[in-house]
Amino acid sequence: MISKIIDEDLITKVKKAIDGVDKIVIVTHVGPDGDAMGSTLALWHYLMTMEKEPVVIVPSMFPNFLVWMPGAECVLNYENYKEKADDLIASAELIFTLDFNQASRMEKMTVAVINAPAPKILVDHHLHPGDFANIAVSYPEISSTSELIFRLICRMGDFSKINLACAECIYTGMMTDTGGFTYNSNSQEIYIIIAELIKLGVDKDAIYRKVYNTFSPDRFRLMGFCLYKKMKVYPEYRAALITLTGKELYQFNYTNGDAEGFVNIPLSIEGIDFSVFMREDTDKIKISLRSQGTFPANKVAADLFNGGGHLNAAGGELYSTLAEAVKKFEEALPDYKDFLETEE
Ligand code: 5GP
Ligand code: MN
Repeated sequence: MISKIIDEDLITKVKKAIDGVDKIVIVTHVGPDGDAMGSTLALWHYLMTMEKEPVVIVPSMFPNFLVWMPGAECVLNYENYKEKADDLIASAELIFTLDFNQASRMEKMTVAVINAPAPKILVDHHLHPGDFANIAVSYPEISSTSELIFRLICRMGDFSKINLACAECIYTGMMTDTGGFTYNSNSQEIYIIIAELIKLGVDKDAIYRKVYNTFSPDRFRLMGFCLYKKMKVYPEYRAALITLTGKELYQFNYTNGDAEGFVNIPLSIEGIDFSVFMREDTDKIKISLRSQGTFPANKVAADLFNGGGHLNAAGGELYSTLAEAVKKFEEALPDYKDFLETEE
C-alpha cells in the first residue's frame, strides 16, 4: 500500500475540475527535461483514455533523447506554433502546469498562460510554489512530478486507466529526476510504484538505454572535451566547475540537450560534493548545479544565479558574460565552506 501523500481535498478538487471539461492544456517549463516530459505526457495519456481533448504545449523543444516517448509526436512547441498554441491556451477550459513553481519558468509562454481565463492546476515538487494556480498540488518531498501524477491518478480511483504508454512516461520522469535512482531516491515507495509500472509492462532497462545510451558522436566528443579541457577542480571547497562558450558549442555542433547530465560527472571524483556547469547561450549564461549529501545547491543557485531548485539539483541564469559568472562563483565559494560535510 502506498501512503496517501496528496490531500484528500485536493484530489476532490482536481477530479471535479477534470470531470466538467474537455479542452485541457498541459504546460511545463522551458528546456523540458525527462520529468517535465514524463509528467505532461503521462497526464496526456490518462486524459486521452477519458476521451478528453488534452494537448501538451512546451515553451521550447525537448531534447532528442526523449523523442521516443509515447505521445512526444503530438507535443506542440510554442517556439514553432505560437499562434496555434496561443489559441489553444486562450480557449482551454482547464490548464495543468507541471514540474515548475514560478510562472516565469514558462518564459515566452508565461503571459499567454497567466492571462488565460481557464482555471489552473499546478502539480509540482519544487519548493515555494507561486500563486498563479487555482489548485496547487505541491509536494517538494516527492522526488519527481511524474511520481506525483501517478499518485494523483491512483487517488482519483483511476489506476486502471494507466496504460503502458502512460506508465512508460511516469517511469521516465521518475528515473531522470533521480539520475537513474542515484540521488533523491531513498523513499521505499518509489520502488513500490516502479513494481506497479513494471507489472503494467514497462521495460525499465530499455528505457534506461533509450535515455542514457543515445549520445551522438558530437555529444560524446563534447563531453570528452569538457572533462579534458574545461573542468576546473577546487579541492579545498570539494567543488568542480565546467564552462562552455558559445563558440565551443558551435564547434561541436551543439543541439538542445547535448550537455544534459554533464554537470553530474564531476561528482564521481573522490572528494567532490558540489559541481557547477555554465553554458553560454546567445543572451545569457545558463547554470546547472548539483551536489551530494547536505550541501545546498539550491541555496547557491538562489544566492548567486537568480535560480533555485532542489537541495542536490538546482539551476539558474545570469545576464552577464561567462567570465563574470565564473568570477562570481569563484569569489563566493569560500562563503559556502561551512556547508561542506567533513570527511568521514
Ligand atoms: P537543470 O540543471 O537540469 O537545468 O535543473 C535542475 C533543477 O534546477 C530543475 O529541476 C529546477 O528545479 C531547477 N532550475 C533549473 N533552472 C532554474 C532556474 O532558472 N530557476 C529556478 N528557480 N530553478 C531552476
Ligand atoms: Mn522534476
